[in-house]
Amino acid sequence: MLNFAHQEHINTYYYHSRNLNLKQPHLAENLSTEVCVIGAGLCGLSTALELAEQGKQVIVLDGARIGYGASGRSGGQAINGFEDGIDEYIEQFGFEQAKSLWEMSLEAIDIIDERVQKYQIQCDWKKGYATLALNHRRMDDLIAIEKASRETFGYSYMQLWDKTQLQQHLGSDIYVGGLFDSNSGHLHPLNYCLGLAKACLELGVQIFEQSPVLDMQTQYNQVILTTDKAQVSAQHVVLATNAYIANLPKSIHHGTARKILPVESFIIATEPLDQSTADSLINNGMSVCDNNLLLDYYRLSADNRLLFGSDSSSNKDMVQVMRKNMLNVFPQLEQIKIDYGWGGPIDMTLNSQPYFGRIASNIYFAHGYSGHGIALTGLAGRIIAESILGDDHRLQVFEKLKISSVYGGKLIKKLALKIGIPYYKFLDKYF
Ligand SMILES: Cc1cc2nc3c(=O)[nH]c(=O)nc-3n(C[C@H](O)[C@H](O)[C@H](O)COP(=O)(O)OP(=O)(O)OC[C@H]3O[C@@H](n4cnc5c(N)ncnc54)[C@H](O)[C@@H]3O)c2cc1C
Repeated sequence: MLNFAHQEHINTYYYHSRNLNLKQPHLAENLSTEVCVIGAGLCGLSTALELAEQGKQVIVLDGARIGYGASGRSGGQAINGFEDGIDEYIEQFGFEQAKSLWEMSLEAIDIIDERVQKYQIQCDWKKGYATLALNHRRMDDLIAIEKASRETFGYSYMQLWDKTQLQQHLGSDIYVGGLFDSNSGHLHPLNYCLGLAKACLELGVQIFEQSPVLDMQTQYNQVILTTDKAQVSAQHVVLATNAYIANLPKSIHHGTARKILPVESFIIATEPLDQSTADSLINNGMSVCDNNLLLDYYRLSADNRLLFGSDSSSNKDMVQVMRKNMLNVFPQLEQIKIDYGWGGPIDMTLNSQPYFGRIASNIYFAHGYSGHGIALTGLAGRIIAESILGDDHRLQVFEKLKISSVYGGKLIKKLALKIGIPYYKFLDKYF
């Protein structure tokens, strides 16, 4: 049995500030459908929504609840581009292919704009995002990104800030400067996810919660998915299980789990801050992330809590570790109470490039967002839906990306992270 089966939501700030309660039934009888999506996170629901908008019959199965996974726990930052720099893509695939990938990453942000507007999703969607450098070497990286985005692709939303310009908006003096992007932004990820689920339900999508898929077999042209209580027979299947792919049997992941390295990330939420304290931290509504390998990311929530996250290898004393990281950036918050702390797995690939593709002509997957999933899940859903509807030319662009396998089972992966984290800390300090 999968270890998250029948789970309820974990205790997060997002769960306590959710604005919809969409409890859906377990799958209790055998059903057949055109498309079955496994996973009711942003990827699965985006795929379902795109297909339902085109009149397809869709069932979504989740082992836990809608938004139980990373989508309901994330930092909520919707960032343009990919984790791996666009120059890597130019080097590997040439200018035209890299340009097409860059444009799709911008479309991923537009998709959020469109959906929030079209379905009136109340998720505090706000534009403005800054990547910050803790030293001059890392600032040089930001200068190179700004130059490449502007000169290569004509992207005009970015602005380089030196320390003084940055401090006009941010109440911390630990950074040497930053790169502000007025097109990227942030949102309440669980409320966005629930908003997508509501839109899906209104278009006739059936969502079954607490219905873990335990096995997948192909019979003639149909794919048979077995849950703990019943089966779904589908013409097409989409795996949208994110980092949880590692927990699934091989009959479902067919080796795709080997490309994913789940990395734990943690977030704390302070008590609500009074307006002047909140403004003294961030006064322009932006979300923030530094460009270290082991990074900190943060933003203010709609009710003025500081939501502060960092990557880590262990959840031991997680709230204390996150609080220490937060005080390193904002020592003025020493007296502020922490109301919530939680974590979840981020689905990294070894080269941080997204991993979208097909196990068979009618079985699709999208994983490996590598910290850009808030935006890229919308794109993945659209591209997979296009492919199911008969046009796979954009999926083929992603299928050309070369994603290396991470060999070894869960223990080896854990060990790799334990060794990797001190190494990244060393690189962050000296390189
Ligand atoms: C703490 C944290 C902070 C993050 N911050 C950011 C950020 O600021 N910006 C950003 O872009 N990204 C961020 N991410 C990553 C981002 O949240 C994810 O990339 C994105 O939400 C992935 O969405 P998804 O739908 O693919 O996966 P998920 O939301 O994880 O959904 C997968 C779903 O599949 C279900 N499932 C799994 N296996 C089965 C099965 N066998 N049967 C049925 N259901 C199954 C799970 O229950 C789950 O609901 C963060 C992630 C974490 C954990």
